[in-house]
Amino acid sequence: MKIENLCVRRLIGDVSGATTRGHKIAIKGGYVYQTFQGGYTLTPLGWSVIRKIENIIRDEMNTVDGQELLLPVVCSADLWRETGRYDSMDNIAKFTGRSGTDYVICPTHEEVITDYARSVLTSYRQLPFMLYQIQTKFRDELRVRAGLVRTREFIMKDGYSFHETQEDLDKYYKRCYDTYYRFFKRCGLKNFTAVLASSGDMGGKFTHEFQLIHEMGEDTLYICDCGFRANKEVVDEESAICPECGKALQKVRGIEIGQVFQLGRRYTESMHVTYTDSDGNEKTPVMGCYGIGVTRVMAAILEESSDENGPVWNMETAPFAVHVIGLNGKDKNVLELAQKVHDDLIANGIETILDNRDIRAGEKFADADLIAAPIRLIISENNIAKNVIEVKYRVNDFDTSNMPMEFSVSDFITPIQKVITKLSHR
Ligand SMILES: [Zn+2]
Repeated sequence: MKIENLCVRRLIGDVSGATTRGHKIAIKGGYVYQTFQGGYTLTPLGWSVIRKIENIIRDEMNTVDGQELLLPVVCSADLWRETGRYDSMDNIAKFTGRSGTDYVICPTHEEVITDYARSVLTSYRQLPFMLYQIQTKFRDELRVRAGLVRTREFIMKDGYSFHETQEDLDKYYKRCYDTYYRFFKRCGLKNFTAVLASSGDMGGKFTHEFQLIHEMGEDTLYICDCGFRANKEVVDEESAICPECGKALQKVRGIEIGQVFQLGRRYTESMHVTYTDSDGNEKTPVMGCYGIGVTRVMAAILEESSDENGPVWNMETAPFAVHVIGLNGKDKNVLELAQKVHDDLIANGIETILDNRDIRAGEKFADADLIAAPIRLIISENNIAKNVIEVKYRVNDFDTSNMPMEFSVSDFITPIQKVITKLSHR
């Protein structure tokens, strides 16, 4: 794609109204556009990152036998009345249709999935199963925080598992917990951890939040050298003493990026989900629930990994793998070679953006920092004279000292594919 055709508005200089580095970079780079207070448009660039994150989720959910489906966004209030949450949850957006039916815009989907499960489940032989979706949620929050961390509308992966016994749920919960570690790591997040949390509106036995430890986070966490980690709802804040080892707890800030719950029979009982067990008895399944804030993961990467010039995506989350810059936008040889390199990469299935504009080099590099393709190829008159394409990397936590600094003009596809594989290695 040519950079001038990318339908995204990048900003130069300081961004007003953004309070954190990640938020600033998201606005400056044109990843998001604030359509209303608490609701953002994901631009072609931002959506590309989200799609990458979603595909990592799908990949990892496959490893725990997740089955993807799609539930309705808007749902009849009746399902929510069955569990009592129509009246007890305060952030549900409700409306009455012209026919007089009460609706909710789902802030979460326990009721909707449980209704589906009871329509399908008859026998113990079907258990366990895990269903998940990646979908937009809306929560009618009183206040929103600046930026992408607490918004009214957001994309979430929500998964729900159904089991015969608590022991089976315990085992599965552990597998999902481990999968979450892998997932966040693949997204390029570094300083994240699972903490004990209270289950709040969701009900159930116990829960873990996945938190990115970061000074801009809005959650208060308590951590201990012994490995104990909890959010403030679980810890006695007066004493802040570790319940495991008795030492003083360390207080840190966190951004919540995911959560796993054991729901028990809270929903399956109130919504009368049953199956026949191996002895022919009618039983109620136990349930687990597994969320990931997809838009929040992007926000968290931006907070943790960006520098003052732009984001640092990894090969799995970057909107483009390669950014080709024709350094002199007037030189015919430069323009032609840059175009050819771009076309050849595209023909080989490598996501590439081309900047052949006739503008200052500094502006081109500033834009390249904001788009942040991990591999940047520079075509200039000097390089053409040496018959090479210069390469620069925008990565962190990756030693590029042994990576090629240039490619031959006549043979660059295979070497670039090798570099992509190397950068994708985890
Ligand atoms: Zn401790």
